[in-house]
Amino acid sequence: MPFSTLGLSPALVRAANALGYVEPTPIQVQAIPTILKGSDVLGLAQTGSGKTAAFCLPLLQALQDSTRPSSRSSIKTLILVPTRELAAQVGEAIHGISQHLPVAVKTTVVFGGVSINPQMMGLRGGADIVVATPGRLLDLLDQNALTLANITTLVLDEADRLLDLGFSDELTRIISLLPPQRQSLFFSATFEPSVQALADALLRHPTRIEVAATPQTVPKIAQRAIEVDPSRRTQLLRHLIQDHQWPRVLVFVATKHAAEIVADKLRKANIWAEPFHGTLSQGKRTQVLHDFKNSGLDGVKGVQVVVATDLAARGIDIAELPVVVNYDLPRASTDYVHRIGRTARAGESGIAVSFISRDSAAHFALIEKRFDLSLTREQIAGFEPVALDALDVPAVTGIDAPRNAASAPGTGGVKGRRPSKKDKLRASR
Ligand code: AMP
Repeated sequence: MPFSTLGLSPALVRAANALGYVEPTPIQVQAIPTILKGSDVLGLAQTGSGKTAAFCLPLLQALQDSTRPSSRSSIKTLILVPTRELAAQVGEAIHGISQHLPVAVKTTVVFGGVSINPQMMGLRGGADIVVATPGRLLDLLDQNALTLANITTLVLDEADRLLDLGFSDELTRIISLLPPQRQSLFFSATFEPSVQALADALLRHPTRIEVAATPQTVPKIAQRAIEVDPSRRTQLLRHLIQDHQWPRVLVFVATKHAAEIVADKLRKANIWAEPFHGTLSQGKRTQVLHDFKNSGLDGVKGVQVVVATDLAARGIDIAELPVVVNYDLPRASTDYVHRIGRTARAGESGIAVSFISRDSAAHFALIEKRFDLSLTREQIAGFEPVALDALDVPAVTGIDAPRNAASAPGTGGVKGRRPSKKDKLRASR
């Protein structure tokens, strides 16, 4: 089905085609005509589904048809997102489309962690679209840098993540400043009761659109579960990266500290790795993502491995990312889908590797149960776990796991394989 059948104007269809979008994705097929009609939308979808263009294309069409912002500092469309990276990414997506349009669209992206002054300047004279994280938007409202009184469309992107990150109070305040007459578009990857309550408070007779990805609906991701002792994960990671010559790898860990340590160890092994977590300055976060996204392009030797907390699990769109590694498993099983969804974007294929240890085996089994998965446990020669051997999981790669009593967990029967103080500390983080 071509874009032209969705009710978009020829200019918007040309813009979509110019970006290489030939066929609309399932969420675009459903959302674009609904948004063009002016209905509210309750979208159950995650990044990777093409949802950004699903709301940006019709919003930009509406702005092409409308008059310019009426008063100083007024804005028409507000897009709220949970993270700075997602704000920048949505801003880039809008810019990518709008550069092909006949009528210029003023888009301002605002988020915390960087100076507020350029953003205040950027809002002077109003804007057609503001893409914002909630905290910085409130700071700007407190400084009278903008007013929300003329908003015609509100988009809440990754609503579940906004609530997870504790933005509930900020959202309530922002919503109280919006005019009641507006179109609201609400996107979330999951629908816990808190998310549903927020949707109920915001939306009027919404059209429900559901294209949630599950590990089964992302067939181009080859999922692997590799058994390894926790203390040998960095060595195994290094081995896999070098053995497979993976050009770009996103590695997920549980803590900021682990991100620093693992990246540091990889760097010492001459693999250019950078940590990515919430304590880094915004400048550093932007730089790491930029160097990662551009690595390997035009012969640029950029960041090969990013070792990240779940900050990077949502929203971040990295083209041609062949591999995601769960060095630590995600605490919430839904984050498993978000994490592995960083690879195999926009029709590419990818590999998602999860390291499974004795301590995390039961947790991984729960993730599998939740998504009705059954992954074969693998072991890599030279990295067979010692501690895992009493677990009831079949080894399949032809490499025998140690099966003798001396190496059973808790016996401490194998010299050099007893968890060190450092291992215990790591395991407790
Ligand atoms: P999103 O889910 O919005 O993060 O989009 C994921 C990726 O899909 C982005 O790189 C988009 O540029 C790309 N994309 C969005 N719509 C289409 C489409 N109709 N055809 C091909 N790629 C698309």
